Formats: sequence, C-alpha cells, structure tokens
Amino acid sequence: IVVLLSTCSAHHPLAKPTIFPRSSSSSNIQFSQKPLILNDNLSFENIHEAAKDFGNIYHFLPSAILYPETVSDISTIIININEMGTTSGLTVAARGNGHSLKGQAQAYHGIVIDMKSLRGPEMQFYTGELPYVDVSGGELWINILNESLKHGLSPKSWTDYLHLTVGGTLSNAGVSGQAFRHGPQINNVYQLEVVTGTGEVVTCSETQNTDLFYGVLGGLGQFGIITRARISLEPAPIMVKWIRVLYSDFSIFTQDQEHLISSQKAFDYIEGFVIINRTDLVNSWRSTFNPKDPVQASQFISDGKTLFCLEMAKYFNPQEIDFMNQKVDGLLSELSYIESTLFLSEVSYVEFLDRVHVSMLKLQEKGLWDLPHPWLNLIIPRSRIHEFAQEVFGNIITDTSNGPILIYPVNKSKWNNRTSMITPEEDVLYLVAFLSSAMPGSTGTDGLEYIFSQNKRILDFCKSANLGMKQYLPHYLTQEEWKIHFGSKWEVFLRRKFTYDPLAILAPGQRIFKKGK
Ligand code: FAD
Repeated sequence: IVVLLSTCSAHHPLAKPTIFPRSSSSSNIQFSQKPLILNDNLSFENIHEAAKDFGNIYHFLPSAILYPETVSDISTIIININEMGTTSGLTVAARGNGHSLKGQAQAYHGIVIDMKSLRGPEMQFYTGELPYVDVSGGELWINILNESLKHGLSPKSWTDYLHLTVGGTLSNAGVSGQAFRHGPQINNVYQLEVVTGTGEVVTCSETQNTDLFYGVLGGLGQFGIITRARISLEPAPIMVKWIRVLYSDFSIFTQDQEHLISSQKAFDYIEGFVIINRTDLVNSWRSTFNPKDPVQASQFISDGKTLFCLEMAKYFNPQEIDFMNQKVDGLLSELSYIESTLFLSEVSYVEFLDRVHVSMLKLQEKGLWDLPHPWLNLIIPRSRIHEFAQEVFGNIITDTSNGPILIYPVNKSKWNNRTSMITPEEDVLYLVAFLSSAMPGSTGTDGLEYIFSQNKRILDFCKSANLGMKQYLPHYLTQEEWKIHFGSKWEVFLRRKFTYDPLAILAPGQRIFKKGK
C-alpha cells in the first residue's frame, strides 16, 4: 500500500492517513512527501492499545504500531524518519509491557514499537564463571527467571513485579528489595545492543561505546532502543524464608532497616511498608504467613494506628534449612520489632519473586487492576527521612486504603554514578512508593483528584523543606523541571541527546525534549 500522510503539521504528522491502492509488494509510506519504505510489520489497526498504560491517566493515540521481527526493522524505520528531517514531527516510542504510569511509552501521532514482538532470538546462556544471559530488549523478566532456573541460575536484582520488559526497567533503574546488596537492575548488565535515534545499531558495554552504555541505562529511552541485553546471573536458590514484623515507632523501624542493609550477609531482600488504619490487611497475611504467636497476633489491631512493616527474605536450599533457621533467628534477635508481630512463611523462589502477579490476578478478577494509578515514587536521602515521615505519615496520609506505601533503604555505594539515573547524593537512600489506585468517577478520598492533591502536598512539602528528594519514574511537564531533576547531570544528558538522537525522535512520552525544538 501507499499511504500519503498529511504533510504540513509538525504536531499531527500522521493524523489523517490517506490510503491508496497497493502498488507494489513492499509497503510504501509517504511522510512530508518523502517516501518511507517499510516492511509489512507496520499496522494502523488497534492503535488504541498503544494509547493505554498501567497508569491509565494519559492516553495519546499514535498513528501506527510497528511489530518488529528483527532489529533491522527498528533501525530502518528510525533511519527513514531521520531522513524526513524535523518537518514531519514524527516520533517513535518503544513500548515494553506498557506498565508506565504517565504515558512514557506513548507517542502522540507517532509510531509505537511493540518491543515484545522482538522476543527472538532465543535466550543464550553463558554458564561459566560470571554467568550471564543474552535476552531481547522486549523480553519479560518472568520469562528470564523461568529460563534461567533451568540452568540453576537467576538474575540478581529484580523489580517487585516481573511482568515488565528488560528495556522498560533498564530505561528507569529496576529496584526492589535486592537493590541494597546488588544495586538496581541497571547495575547488573554487562552489555547492550542499542538502536540509536539515528538508526545505528551499536553494541555497548563498560569498555565499548561506554558513553552510550551508561547513557542508555536509566536514560528514559532518550538515546536508543535496547534490542538486546546481557544480564548478569548467580546460582539460584530453591526456597525463600519470607518474614514480616511490625513496628509502631518509625525511628526504631528505620534503625533496624539500616542495620540490616549494612550487612551483605544478613538477608537477601529487605523492604518495608506503612500501614495506617488497616487491621484487615494484617489479618489478610494469614493466607500466606504463620504468626509466630497466633494468640497475640489474633488480638492485634491497627485501627487508628500508624505501623511500619519490615519485610525480609532469606534464600536457602532445602538441605540447609536448619542452618538457615539458626541464622534467621540470630538476625531477628538483633531487631526491636513488636514481639507478637512476627509472621513467617516458606515459599519457593519463583513464588516469592512472582508474588505481585498473584495479587494482580486477584485484582483482575475483581475488575480492580485496570483502574487509574496515580503513583508517586520518591527517593529521599537518609538524613531527611524522619522529617519526611513525620509530615507525610503524620499529617498528609490519613490511611493506606488507596494502596500500599513502600519504604526501604538502599546503599548508594551499590549504584553506579555513571548511568543516567538520578538519585540524591547520600550513602543511604530511601525509596518511598505511594502505589495508589483511584476509583473512576469518585469525588471522595479514593478519587483521582483527591489522590493527585495528596501527591501534590507531598511534593510541595519535599520542595519547601528542601529535602533533596528526587523522583523515581519521574514525570515533569516542562524542560525547566527536567533540568532541576537532572541538576549537574543535565549537561551530560543534553550532550548525549544531541549525539545519539539529535532530532529528538525517541520516547516523546517522557516529555523531556520535543522534536524540532
Ligand atoms: P514501558 O512502560 O513499556 O516503557 C517505559 C519507558 O521505557 C518508555 O519511555 C519506553 O519508551 C521505554 N522503553 C521501553 N522499552 C524500551 C527499550 N527496549 N529500549 C529503550 N526504551 C524502552 N519499577 C521498579 O523499579 N521496581 C518495582 O518494583 C516496580 N514495580 C512495578 C509494579 C507494577 C505493577 C508496575 C505497573 C510498575 C512497576 N515498576 C517498578 C515500574 C516499572 O519498572 C516501569 O514502569 C517500567 O518502565 C515498566 O516496564 P515496561 O516494560 O512496561 O515499560
């Protein structure tokens, strides 16, 4: 087919495609009077799918979706768009699993590349010393886990939810309870293959095309599309001891968390969350966890209280169970939680890592997964976390019924400063995630407007108290705000943009750069 597209508007380059009869076997699309030769993987159907994401707040309709079979499909379309220059305004967004929160994987009137179609070639494992796996940028982490386990191996650093793609999490950071010892996922990658914003296919690593390698890691999709990644692996455990304990005092809670992350040999996973006014939540743990003291635990209520839950996990193999239990008992004896609130569970490694998927299936059943998700993710320096907690958990948030609030520390020394990821400058950083769901149409405390206003109060407080906070999965509407976000790293970010994507074609949904400006 030959598709002639409206030629003049920089903002609506593909707004009104006119389709002409097929003239040759290859598809031929014309933008701004310049022909673009395409393979048959470009589709103008189901484009609404690419205007959705997990956030379910922003919906930017693209003009087409590319389902690439090969890396060359991606590079060809980018080269062609470059050849059109800035007049077409046409942009390209790689879409992993579309679990962004604010339209970051969308491209208004542009082309969305469905990275999951690029799953092949098959994963390649290297099982020698320093094992790794080569995977497609569109691969889901859950698939990597399942394949790695067949070799007795596993990636080291995770996200809480595994149905996200490699390219999607490596464009941000990829953080979970393992990050205190292994750093985020972007620190556990040996090599990448990237299609830059000029369409060049480049292999990069710590020693090869280093600038691009570090630029792309945490680079919000601005410098290239990750088509392949080499992920570092370690021997996989079989089982996990999974533990939750409660605190009513924030200082004691954080003291214990910080004590645990200071040792690389204590637990394998450390997170935490805030519970305000949720007795039902603590009771719901009983389906997975056994309380150490069932009588006391059954009398436990959290109504009217703010509690802090420390969550820990210790990996083990069944033959080491006694040794592991002794070790865990020793570690727990160093902590100062409320004694009657020790909850224990033993699950398989996969069950533990894929735990959020179970909740996701339950929410899906109840029609509660596809709600708007006005999430807010912050990184707070340790020196200011008490001030933050006092205001936010003491004044702003009055209950946690809209969704979980995670809070846990990580060691900054495990994060490579050379990546594009921005964090505050301090040895210990707290990740604080407000994972709210909003009820459509509600004007009450579970409505979008209310949650947005709460998020704004939190952000305003961080700003007015000058906490040195940085957003994770950041979202800003102006370049001025982005400059403040990047701080002293803005110049490097800008230089990399000019070098690798000079026409600002890539990832327009991040709203950092605008094509033609
Ligand atoms: P998408 O949303 O599809 O894309 C995200 C961004 O990356 C877009 O800008 C897109 O253009 C770009 N991109 C996508 N693929 C590529 C590629 N191959 N090359 C270059 N750029 C690309 N994050 C954490 O760190 N820790 C967590 O524990 C965590 N838990 C989560 C749980 C849930 C339920 C959800 C919805 C999100 C969670 N996140 C977490 C956030 C998540 O890591 C990011 O939203 C991530 O971007 C989602 O991956 P995705 O594959 O869906 O990416």
